[in-house]
Amino acid sequence: MRNVKSKKFTLIAAAIILVLSFTIVLAAQGKDITWFSIFEGNSYKLQLENGIKKLEKTDTAILLGTEDLKALLAEKNKAAEVYMDLNTDKYNVDEKGRIMLPISEEKSYDLGKVFFMGSNGWTARNIDIAIDDSKYLSATNAKSYQSVLKDQAPDYHSRLVNQDNTLPDGYNNENLVTIKGVQAIISNKGMRLDKVTLEALKIMLDKAAADGVKGFVLNSTYRSYSEQKNLFDYRFNERKASGAANPYEEASKVVAYPGTSEHQTGMALDILSVEYPKGSVFSQSKEYAWLKENCWDYGFIPRYPEEKTEKTKISFEPWHYRYIGKPLSLYAKQTGLCLEELVESFQKNKLTSFKASDGDVYLFMLIKKGQDFMLEDGLTMDYTLTELTEEDNLIVIKK
Ligand SMILES: [Zn+2]
Repeated sequence: MRNVKSKKFTLIAAAIILVLSFTIVLAAQGKDITWFSIFEGNSYKLQLENGIKKLEKTDTAILLGTEDLKALLAEKNKAAEVYMDLNTDKYNVDEKGRIMLPISEEKSYDLGKVFFMGSNGWTARNIDIAIDDSKYLSATNAKSYQSVLKDQAPDYHSRLVNQDNTLPDGYNNENLVTIKGVQAIISNKGMRLDKVTLEALKIMLDKAAADGVKGFVLNSTYRSYSEQKNLFDYRFNERKASGAANPYEEASKVVAYPGTSEHQTGMALDILSVEYPKGSVFSQSKEYAWLKENCWDYGFIPRYPEEKTEKTKISFEPWHYRYIGKPLSLYAKQTGLCLEELVESFQKNKLTSFKASDGDVYLFMLIKKGQDFMLEDGLTMDYTLTELTEEDNLIVIKK
């Protein structure tokens, strides 16, 4: 009995060694093969360096787990984050998150795109998978990449400015223009705004007028550092004179400290109404109701909402609007996040997929300044780069 058992054991061991060496030879042969599987009855074994995962098969499809594939791609590409943008219009994903690869004569699958985040930034490539005649499942490495962000200056319109994210010393928006041609009363001649912000404002207020809402007053727009300083000092001295325990803190809640005000960017504006010319009652006006509902569609956000004062550290300001551009403003509307929360969520999630109300789909990818975005040769993408904080930019990809 002992002999039989040990013979059997030897045979099994030999078989294992044979399979292993076969595996190693195959792995060494094809440079482009990053992973493969062994067809066995009704299942595929997805061979990883550190273990085996099973692929299931039905009569019509091979089921490939998205999480398995993701883990594999992360490992092979030494990536901290992996995001797969699957061709879901081409391949179905079942309720267990498995991609259903139809078994056909073609045997090759263009699964979609994959995004890796590494220490140098993001890399994007296609996920091409093939099943060859010996039933090996393989994904090929990309041949070469092109760097697309190097030396590209980001758009500045979504920059977070607050007490913790101050503007750099000597900050100056060079694209300020005098406000003209807007359907609103301008409280001071010569008021200025950032050029892109003004264009968006014009379009927004034209639409409001078309909707019968036309009592807007532009109360305050761009302010220089020294103008902001005067405002702050005035409020600080007033609080101090009235015997406030902490005049600095109290003044900060109602007037931003110089260098921390969005007004200095030229992308923020205080809007009031002819009927409600005071900030304290503006929220009762139809102008406010219209802006609150529609401003997002033009790239604006109500910057200091009533329910976000803990996050913004600024009291409710129904009159203060900030241009951050689309599609970010649309994303803010859909998620209900204020600008501080938006930035936090991008920092946390690294890659966010967003379907806007108009049906357009976007990917938001956080990228540190100085990092790059590498695209597999032949891959084209509609993307822009925008600034979030002093350290972070955001890549916005329109799918
Ligand atoms: Zn303001």
